[in-house]
Amino acid sequence: MMNYDGIFAGAIDALREERRYRTFATLVRNPETAPTALWQPPGETRGPQPVTVWCSNDYLCMGMHPDVIEASTEASRSFGTGAGGTRNISGTHQKVVELEQELAGLHGKEAALVFTSGWVSNFAAISTIGTLLPDCVIFSDADNHNSIIEGIGRSRCEKKIWRHNDVTHLEQLLAAEPHDRAKLVVFESLYSMSGSIAPIGGIAALAERYGAMTYIDEVHAVGLYGPQGGGICDRDGLADQIDVIQGTLAKGFGSLGGYVAANASIVDAIRSYAPSFIFTSTMPPSVAASAAAAVRHLRRSKAERDQQQAVTRRVRRALQAARLPVMANESHIIPVVVGEAQKCTAASQMLLERHKIYVQPINYPTVSKGTERLRLTPTPAHRDVHIDLLVAALSDVWASLELPYDERVARSPIVGMTGDALDPKDMTGQQSVRAE
Ligand SMILES: *Cc1c(COP(=O)(O)O)cnc(C)c1O
Repeated sequence: MMNYDGIFAGAIDALREERRYRTFATLVRNPETAPTALWQPPGETRGPQPVTVWCSNDYLCMGMHPDVIEASTEASRSFGTGAGGTRNISGTHQKVVELEQELAGLHGKEAALVFTSGWVSNFAAISTIGTLLPDCVIFSDADNHNSIIEGIGRSRCEKKIWRHNDVTHLEQLLAAEPHDRAKLVVFESLYSMSGSIAPIGGIAALAERYGAMTYIDEVHAVGLYGPQGGGICDRDGLADQIDVIQGTLAKGFGSLGGYVAANASIVDAIRSYAPSFIFTSTMPPSVAASAAAAVRHLRRSKAERDQQQAVTRRVRRALQAARLPVMANESHIIPVVVGEAQKCTAASQMLLERHKIYVQPINYPTVSKGTERLRLTPTPAHRDVHIDLLVAALSDVWASLELPYDERVARSPIVGMTGDALDPKDMTGQQSVRAE
């Protein structure tokens, strides 16, 4: 007889051995106390402990915004909880239609299509585009997210990986294909684990020259960059040079769901052909309403963006002054390099247990080996007192675990956001990265 349980237990043991077994921290978030939440330690002996969260992807605290909460509760009261069906079978409610109009407007595109998550939107859109284009070859940045990789896999298209953010390499790969072959270039605007930003203009220019379609994942930038919060394309005025813009409603917009925005025919084709859009129920009105409220708010207000950038600069400077090895980048994500999986996990544990600071360790396969890190995400709710406590706590952890300091910063005075902190270690050339 097959030992079914033994197979699953063995698979888990293998993960434990590789130190890839994941444990989740149970949190009770509270709009009144953000960025402090309650953490329930494992086991029942101790009650919930207050912890300061430094790794939330609710980057702008929009999930805590009174207008957004009100939109959600009001929609539940008015329209009930579930959507009642798939889009095709009684599930196309007014709130999701309004949300799609808002998102098309945000990105200056003819249409937008909403999915139940950002992961599903990448999977659905990329696989459908790749399937519909005859003999398409897909060019994918080496650091692309798992949802992109899975979408490309499902498309069954030929795939070429270019070194992370390396336009010279991308051009070599594009030039090697016949000019009239269908091509799709897929990349992210802002990579969440390193905070690096893509050379979007250069990539768009190459796509134009070699006759390729472009698809950008702006998941970590929507809400956070650009005059309307439309992402890096909005900030740099490049949205009209990119064919498909994909985003999430679950990070900067503080809700749940994903979407693509593009011209009407691309959106209509995905709507009509993607099984992961067609055969699943629509997001509830409360979710669509809260997402739309966040998008609408951030199109008008830049206060949250400005405050978040200001806090980010303060955190970065304070960490550098303490000689902590901050990865250089020009974004709101602050990776602090540990460089070893076990110590990275230990550092996170010590921050939580000893200092009541919650930062999830980022280990392989999310990032490549030797670049294990703590990834800090400042929000507008973090105050100077939180920053001071964070730097003191990290300094204690660095000393306790004898972790490496940034020697270069020791020799130079404090540098700004784009300063000469530690160079990001080489993470290129492999599609092993499973960012999340
Ligand atoms: C989180 C993430 C997604 C998936 O978005 P969800 O809405 O969380 O499913 C897609 N792309 C990137 C780059 C991400 O980091």
